[in-house]
Amino acid sequence: MRRILWIGLVLAGQCACAQNDQPITLILWMGKPAHHYSLTPAPLKYNKDFAFSFTLDDGLVSALRVALPYFAGGRVSPPYTDEWGFDQGGDGHFYRGLYYTDGCGHRRPFRAAIAINGGKMAADDRDHAGFLSWRQVDTLKEWGWDIFDHGYGHLTGAGVNAAAEISNNGQAVEERMGIQMTQFVVPGGKDDALSQESYAAAAFAAGRLAVHNGHYAMDWSLPEDAAAARHIRAGRWFFSSRQGNWNKAFYKSLAHLLQTKEKAWINAFTHATGNDDVWNISLRFPDFKTFFDGLAARYGEKGKDNMWMASFQEVQDYQIIRHTLKYDLRVEGNRLYCRFDPRTVPRGLKHNACSFIWRSAQPVRAVKCVGCRVESYTEVRPGDKVQQQVINMNW
Ligand SMILES: [Zn+2]
Repeated sequence: MRRILWIGLVLAGQCACAQNDQPITLILWMGKPAHHYSLTPAPLKYNKDFAFSFTLDDGLVSALRVALPYFAGGRVSPPYTDEWGFDQGGDGHFYRGLYYTDGCGHRRPFRAAIAINGGKMAADDRDHAGFLSWRQVDTLKEWGWDIFDHGYGHLTGAGVNAAAEISNNGQAVEERMGIQMTQFVVPGGKDDALSQESYAAAAFAAGRLAVHNGHYAMDWSLPEDAAAARHIRAGRWFFSSRQGNWNKAFYKSLAHLLQTKEKAWINAFTHATGNDDVWNISLRFPDFKTFFDGLAARYGEKGKDNMWMASFQEVQDYQIIRHTLKYDLRVEGNRLYCRFDPRTVPRGLKHNACSFIWRSAQPVRAVKCVGCRVESYTEVRPGDKVQQQVINMNW
C-alpha cells in the first residue's frame, strides 16, 4: 500500500451530519423580552455577499496533490510526472491554507469540488497515475470536497447514450463512495454542442439538481424561489493558463458584479492545477496560486471577508433550504423559539445548514439548538450597539 505522506493535513471540523427527521428548535435568549424583531434566513450562508464555487473537471490527480493542500493547508506535492508525461505536482512546499471566516471569528478553509468519470479512475497502486483513484477521491470527500458527475466515460458528440452514461456513473460512485451525486457537469463543455441537450435532459430525469455547461448563460444571481433553486442550468467561468490576463479580467468583473448586485454566486472551473498546463485546458500551479492568493487577499479572512468559498452543491443545497424551510416563531418571556420540521426540506441534501439573521433592539445573548447544532453566532457584549446578528446552525 502506498501511503500519501506529502499531505501534512489534520482532519478537523468536518461535518458528518446524518439526515435527521426529528423536529428542530432553535432557542434564542435575549436580556429582555423582544417586542419587535425579525428572524429570517440569510440569502447566503454566514450572510456573505457572494459565493464562489470552484470545480476541477476530469478527476485529475493534481486536485489531491496540489489544490487540496494549498486550500486546506499542508504540503503540496513535489513535481510529479503522470502517465501522459505532464507534471501534475507543485513545488513540494508547505502552505498555510486559504481561509474565509464564518463572520463570528472562526476560519473556514477554501473548498472545491471534483467532477469525475467512474470509468476512468486509476487503480490505487498505479504508478504515475494521471487520474485520481477511488481512495484519493475518498480523501477529498473527507476534507469536505464534493463529488460531481461528469459521465461514466466522458463521451461526447452525437449518438451518446446520455442516460446510460449518467446511470453508470451514478451507480459506480454510489457503490464506491456511498453518495448520490446531485451535480452533472456536461463532458466536452464548450467544444461539444451535440450532446449537451441529451445530457441535460437525462441528468435532470435522473434526479440531478444542477447541470453545468460552458454554453449556459452566466447570470451570477441567486435563485429566486424553490423551483429555481432545485433546477439549475449553471453557466461556468473557465480558468485556463492559456488565456492572457484572465485573472485580472476576472477580478475586474467580480468587483463590478459586487457593486451592481446585492448578492452574487460565481461558478468557475478548470482541469489540472499542477506545474504543467495539462492538455492546454488547465491552470498551471503558479497561476493557480497567484489567482487564489489574490482572491483570498481581496475577499477572504484577511480581506473584506465577504466571500463564501464552497462547492456549487453546498451553495445549491443552501438555496433550496432557505427557500423551502418552513418555521414558526414564538416568544415566551425573554426567549424566542424557532421551530421547524426538517422533513419540509427536500430529502437527500448533503449540506443541511441555515444562517438566520436576527434584527431587534434586544440582542441575542445565547443560542441553543435542540435536534441541531449551533455552529456559531454573532456574540454581543453589554454596551455593544448592533443592527443585526447572524446565527449559523446545521442539522
Ligand atoms: Zn471533462
